[in-house]
Amino acid sequence: MKRAKAPAADLKPFEPIRYTHADWIAEGTRRFGSNMMDWRFVCPVCGNIASCEDFRVFKDRGSEPNSATCECIGRYSGGKRAFDNRKKDDKPCNYAGYGLFQLSPVRVTLPNGKEIHAFAFDEPRPPEGVNPK
Ligand SMILES: [Zn+2]
Repeated sequence: MKRAKAPAADLKPFEPIRYTHADWIAEGTRRFGSNMMDWRFVCPVCGNIASCEDFRVFKDRGSEPNSATCECIGRYSGGKRAFDNRKKDDKPCNYAGYGLFQLSPVRVTLPNGKEIHAFAFDEPRPPEGVNPK
């Protein structure tokens, strides 16, 4: 009897991390402080990390501080296409979480009941448990 092939590990459906809006704000504040411009997010496709502040210089190209939660900064800075022949560590890319491939790992439920997809938070720096010098 032939055994069914296990699906590739990277194709496993993921369980999103869910937050209420209040909890998401609290978690961002805990990691980065109350100034949301300092909050950093990780692109789920290329791993690039960008803060809301990083998007400010691309305002004339249509970016908003909020872009950091759902767009890779390469959309504005000229990154490679997310799903084209990108080499490992080739970043940033042009991924957007609201496109055809919704890979953002975080779901935030807004007070009105709507759910938004967001990139994961970056880790605080220094990482938790490490004493700053
Ligand atoms: Zn990216």
